[in-house]
Amino acid sequence: MAEFSIIRNYCQGIGPKHRSTRIDIGDDAAVFEPPQDMDIAVSTDTMVTGVHFLPDTAPSHLAHKILAVNCSDMAAMGAIPKYATLALTMPQVDEPWLAEFSAALMTQAERFKVQLIGGDTSSGNLTLSCTIIGLLDKFKVLSRASARPGSDVYVSGSVGDAALALAHLQNQINLPKTDAETLTLAHYRPEPRVELGQGLLNIADACIDVSDGLVADLGHICQQSEVSIQIELDAIPLSEAYLNFQNSYSNSDQAANSLDYALYGGDDYELAFTARADRRGEIKALSEELGLRLTKIGIATSAQEHSVMLARGDKLYRPQTHAGYQHFL
Ligand code: ADP
Ligand code: MG
Repeated sequence: MAEFSIIRNYCQGIGPKHRSTRIDIGDDAAVFEPPQDMDIAVSTDTMVTGVHFLPDTAPSHLAHKILAVNCSDMAAMGAIPKYATLALTMPQVDEPWLAEFSAALMTQAERFKVQLIGGDTSSGNLTLSCTIIGLLDKFKVLSRASARPGSDVYVSGSVGDAALALAHLQNQINLPKTDAETLTLAHYRPEPRVELGQGLLNIADACIDVSDGLVADLGHICQQSEVSIQIELDAIPLSEAYLNFQNSYSNSDQAANSLDYALYGGDDYELAFTARADRRGEIKALSEELGLRLTKIGIATSAQEHSVMLARGDKLYRPQTHAGYQHFL
């Protein structure tokens, strides 16, 4: 099947057709009218087989995830995702694969209200690279660089499920069947917190999405905001399935290590953010409005290291070095 047939059959007509789009797929570039009084947020995230996903991952999961991780970057900035382009690299033309991928991409693009306006198609190891374009009210943005000492530190939902699922899928641990199913879904189908990001625009002072691991990503806030962060280990929100996994340990040393997936595992796509203590009421109200757990897990301090420390009772621990996933290490 020729490249142009792939594009026509599987890439066109994906997502809502925004009125601001003048030219979409089919020309040398897409053209849209930038809205007045809004800023534009742009971000790219790539997923490579064997690096970001297991080689046998279902195409519907991949379609969900590539849009979800890109929308998550918009969420972390408080932006509304609007357009996307997709560079699709595949070893060969596999029509059943493309059909499933395209149908799932359609579903997710409609759900996230993102129009696919262009992309590229080529041969090579399976790689998905998506550029997402979102909108923000002028000068209103969430950033990693504006946390302040004394602020509370929060995370949405629960953390560690995606990493725990990966360990299960790679046969490093063995989970009970129902928990394995729940966690695998969290791994393959993360839910970007787009509405939360927008809700936090007037509340949070800094925000990041948890893609590399809670400690690593809070570390980015520390570096860029020039603050330190102390995380209360017992406050970290864990899912029921994660708690079952922890309880399966009888030895207390192992039980302590069993928090590692929540601290250092990646791919949760929850939002971690900081906010002044006088915002607690608004955060509680936002949590109720969205039906989403927002848990205070620590505090930002003026300590000079500009790093993350872990606390339990009155003991302080330094996190593992090289925490979080890093390429080229
Ligand atoms: P060119 O050769 O001018 O770069 P292409 O043949 O690569 O153009 O692409 C033709 C059109 O199809 C362009 O509008 C491009 O944005 C779009 N396109 C190509 N691949 C994809 C894809 N995977 N998803 C969405 N749009 C695509
Ligand atoms: Mg091209």
